Amino acid sequence: MKNKNGLAIAITLIFSSTLFSQNINDLKLKDYHPISIYKTPQSDIKKAKYPIIDVHSHDYTDTDAELDAWVKTMDEVGVEKSIILSYSTGKKFDSIVDKYARYKNRFDVWCGFDYTGLDKPGWQKRAVEELERCYKKGAKGVGELGDKGLGELYSDPTPGYGIHIDDPRMKPLLEKCAELRMPINIHVAEDEWMYLPADSTNDGLMNSAKWKVDMSKPGILNHDQLVATLENAVKNNPRTTFIACHLANCCADLSKLSRLLDAYPNLYADISARYGELAPIPRAVKAFIEKYQDRILYGTDMGTARTMYQTTFRILESTDEHFYARNLFNYHWPLYGIGLSDGVLRKLYGENAKRIFKK
Ligand SMILES: [Zn+2]
Repeated sequence: MKNKNGLAIAITLIFSSTLFSQNINDLKLKDYHPISIYKTPQSDIKKAKYPIIDVHSHDYTDTDAELDAWVKTMDEVGVEKSIILSYSTGKKFDSIVDKYARYKNRFDVWCGFDYTGLDKPGWQKRAVEELERCYKKGAKGVGELGDKGLGELYSDPTPGYGIHIDDPRMKPLLEKCAELRMPINIHVAEDEWMYLPADSTNDGLMNSAKWKVDMSKPGILNHDQLVATLENAVKNNPRTTFIACHLANCCADLSKLSRLLDAYPNLYADISARYGELAPIPRAVKAFIEKYQDRILYGTDMGTARTMYQTTFRILESTDEHFYARNLFNYHWPLYGIGLSDGVLRKLYGENAKRIFKK
């Protein structure tokens, strides 16, 4: 007993001495975790104000118990349905559909494109056939496609390196999606700071140091070139519905996405996994989402934790100021609630998705 107490005291002393004897000159940026000093309103939003269709989720569960727990969380936080972007075809796709079949009304599983044998004759025909097969198995859309500069890498079993979304070889697939009324969720490029030098001037350094895009790779397209591939595909396939996920990675300059949304009625965008990037500029984001309130969709892309959903509600619904969510976002900057109005929230959370997916 005595020893145990002694140990506890020793541990406390060591711990507090590291806290209080911290030499500020040795403090690393990555260890700087400030706590807000402001005594301003702190919202605790447990459930979304309106029913949610989460258009950007993934196959996060391995067991029946995990899936049951996820559905329970969805019920608690107000998510009616989650779209599982499987980016897979073949056996993998089928197994994911089968896994979620127990909760048919709560999940839709979208497929990928199959790039197997991309360089061999007859690839387009085979890829279209596989798309039709996935459609019959239950795929209501395609995604997440993803191109970070070297081609369509998000695909299981075969990544499509060397082929971009506007490549003429993609045309039959994009047309088939229009015919089958399958929207395409697509990731192009990365956020701005991942292209900037990882130095003392980089505003997103906490993330960009880790996620930096290596532009020295031969043939790699830069941010604007990748957004241009999306624009070409959207322009040349007006009957196909595209959802640019993560706001087309244009958070640092939303005017780039505005221009595309103004020009192409078949383009939509999801806000998944960009809450940490949007919350530092709540007024600009509020104006943007209000202007494009029929075109922007709610998504998460950040796992299944209850607190994850609740943090997105706080950012979208509240007007809380200067708070941190270091468990979800790695940035050093504080966050601000965007305070969307009821009518806009209703559309963003579910009504837009219902309208688009019914088409
Ligand atoms: Zn994703």
